[in-house]
Amino acid sequence: FEAILQEKEEKEVKDISSYKGVWVFAEQRQGILQPVAIELLGEGRKIADEIGVELAAVLLGDNVKYLEKQLIAYGADKVYLCEDRELKEYTTDGYTKVLSQMINTYKPEIVLVGATHIGRDLAPRIAARINTGLTADCTKLEVDTEDKKLLQTRPAFGGNIMATIICPNHRPQMATVRSGVMTKAKKDEARRGEVITVAADLKQEDIRTKVIEIIKQQKSIANIQEAEVIVAGGRGLGKKEGFQLLEKLANKLGGVVGASRAVVDLDWIDHDYQVGQTGKTVRPRLYIACGISGAIQHLAGMQGAECIVAINKNPDAPIFKIADYGIVGDVYEILPLLIDTLEKE
Ligand code: FAD
Repeated sequence: FEAILQEKEEKEVKDISSYKGVWVFAEQRQGILQPVAIELLGEGRKIADEIGVELAAVLLGDNVKYLEKQLIAYGADKVYLCEDRELKEYTTDGYTKVLSQMINTYKPEIVLVGATHIGRDLAPRIAARINTGLTADCTKLEVDTEDKKLLQTRPAFGGNIMATIICPNHRPQMATVRSGVMTKAKKDEARRGEVITVAADLKQEDIRTKVIEIIKQQKSIANIQEAEVIVAGGRGLGKKEGFQLLEKLANKLGGVVGASRAVVDLDWIDHDYQVGQTGKTVRPRLYIACGISGAIQHLAGMQGAECIVAINKNPDAPIFKIADYGIVGDVYEILPLLIDTLEKE
């Protein structure tokens, strides 16, 4: 049995030397480039420069050609553009077929995809179809410049360890990265690049699902991933109503509220506001953590903030280890003082 397995493994090992270049899946929704694609272009550019290869963006959709310029301005040397009516809306079948074919034809050595709902659906299917590995939800990417291996780091075992994963025998090396983890690429309108148009070769029967209607989310949720100031609350608030105080402070500072998972689980606030490993990754200029202990899974989502202020009544709370400013005290004493001071200014 072992011999059969070994034979199978040997057969599956591809000639990986023919795989070249870094690809970023340029996710667009209804013609709008998703922020994670711009972040991945920034990261992809760094990796491509380190190993001395081209960076390409892969753009699928219908009438999305106008996005080419943006992708080049954000760092792509090449754009692979595939337009087709069947690609107007994302479908698992359509996008998997087209992107797998493109990878098999052009053979990139690294493929980066945003860990959005679409990316999380698409990337594993492609990896399975083209017989390669995938590291999901990476928080750090590095390259071993000697053998061009991509070192893909992600939290494992409930966030208790950071695991660095490599894909030694298969290509491309595929990773998904969550939105907000990497820094956005800088735009340079003067950059020039090449556009390669690819035919979709899709038949209607290739797609087994049909998008009938897109209904926009009704609730008005502040986008915590774009916010410059976040005032986040944890279990230390003691009650749901505590968020009213946080909202007051957030409004004064032109920011939004965020939350730890503990209070989302308690149903004090919607999951859309959760920061952390199983919530959102944020990089505001100011993050005020109120009654949050600083569990590793929470830190995973906010430690990239420029300035962290922690308010906690326990001087030994782990949040103080990463805070730039720490206030030991009761949130219900400190927050009104802060709000009062801001009101007087
Ligand atoms: P607690 O840990 O209970 O901390 C409350 C803090 O408030 C304490 O430090 C206390 O000293 C302080 N306090 C109490 N009263 C006051 C007061 N009156 N004034 C000031 N301070 C006060 N957590 C996340 O946040 N985001 C995630 O995405 C996430 N993902 C997870 C994924 C996995 C797989 C697992 C296992 C866990 C995850 N968690 C996540 C949960 C995480 O481990 C912690 O349980 C959670 O972050 C704790 O939330 P908290 O800090 O609000 O509550």
